[in-house]
Amino acid sequence: MAIAEILCVGTELLLGDVLDTNSQFLARELAVLGIDCYYRVVVGDNPERIKSALRQALGRSDIVITSGGLGPTADDLTTECIADVFASPMVVDPETLAFIEELFRSRNLVMPPSNRKQAMRPQGADILPNPVGSAPGIIWPIGKEALQKAAIASEYVAQDSVNAPYRVILTFPGVPGELKAMWSETAGPYLAKHYPSGTIWSKELKHIGIGESALAEKFSHLLELSNPTVAPYAGRWECRLRVSAKAATREEARLAAQPVIDEIRSGSGVTLYGEDDDTLESVVANLLVSNGKTISLAESCTGGLITERLTDLPGSSRFMHSAVVAYSNEAKEKFLGVDQSVINKYGAVSEEVAVAMGKGILAASESDLALAVTGIAGPGGGTEDKPVGLVYVALVASVSPGKEPLSFVRKLLLGSRINRSEVRYRTANEALNMVRLFLLEPSSL
Ligand code: AMP
Ligand code: MG
Repeated sequence: MAIAEILCVGTELLLGDVLDTNSQFLARELAVLGIDCYYRVVVGDNPERIKSALRQALGRSDIVITSGGLGPTADDLTTECIADVFASPMVVDPETLAFIEELFRSRNLVMPPSNRKQAMRPQGADILPNPVGSAPGIIWPIGKEALQKAAIASEYVAQDSVNAPYRVILTFPGVPGELKAMWSETAGPYLAKHYPSGTIWSKELKHIGIGESALAEKFSHLLELSNPTVAPYAGRWECRLRVSAKAATREEARLAAQPVIDEIRSGSGVTLYGEDDDTLESVVANLLVSNGKTISLAESCTGGLITERLTDLPGSSRFMHSAVVAYSNEAKEKFLGVDQSVINKYGAVSEEVAVAMGKGILAASESDLALAVTGIAGPGGGTEDKPVGLVYVALVASVSPGKEPLSFVRKLLLGSRINRSEVRYRTANEALNMVRLFLLEPSSL
């Protein structure tokens, strides 16, 4: 089993100016190839620290992948540092030089002398071509002797890398588009060929209405498995169980994961709302369409967020009827027909007003369902009786013409420790989930 290490070079990453998306891309690609990634390191544009990180990586990983530091400027040092570690001279690669010169010529530009640097490689390394930019990388297989000569501790030996070099270094520029193109054209196929270690297949099972620890407890016996593995993750007011299996092919891995997925599916009940790319809103939208239902919204404290999440979906006109953001008491009366006396008696943030808002938009729109939300998003505006984070969500459903609609209300106490946007987002989740439960299993509401 081969182990890879990702080493990203760039002070901008350490300063937080640029998000390290290359690591995410590389880590996912390695997982697809079934190569384990044990370490991800970020280091600034400093030669001593780059060399030290390289030595450490080469001591404990078969495959060292670097990103960044291949440009023509003085702060781009990755290749020189690698050459330095192995006391290997930098040599000009004539083909690369011709390629870069031609690139400038084709753009009617004169190549600045500094770009010559990009055609240099350590003696012994091969060029990793860059199909979309001027800076190529290198692929450099390193033998055990070279590692010893460089005084790098090399006790770590891969278990089954029969046709693989002892170590290999692959370098990429930091520009994400270039890194991706180089990966798919050259580096990915190279690693797949030399480290045929199977592949990982995984599926996410998304839950709402249950906490991460409760979910983990429910399936604790599965969390101990080693292949497939099951791991819980907390998301944004939802949580997920990721089932991953490793096998020689994707199909074998998928089949190995299947019994565990089935067990989670049957043991989850209504908290399991979707899988992989499903979102709560996409699941609700599909349920509305498959049940032939339309919905309208009356939003106060969510300010249109639920409507936005639903109408972000292509084809939303099939289920979305209308929406009103009724923020002031006056608007609740004028647009939704909420009686001022109800507002005066119970307050704008109350079960009664939430239901009245829902009934108001249901009657005006003649849609099948209505969601209404009223609450205190904070940070100000809370009282002892009605604290920040108090929200009422009403789901009102028409039964048949002339009959009083059904209504369901949820009181949420979200607390004052989460900020305004989280109160709104979480409220939207709860509201969407009410629609989901109503369409799936009304008794669970
Ligand atoms: P470099 O190859 O170091 O000259 O990097 C070129 C540009 O790529 C930088 O200015 C960053 O904007 C971007 N970049 C560098 N490293 C990363 C990374 N790990 N993830 C995403 N973008 C990066
Ligand atoms: Mg850089």
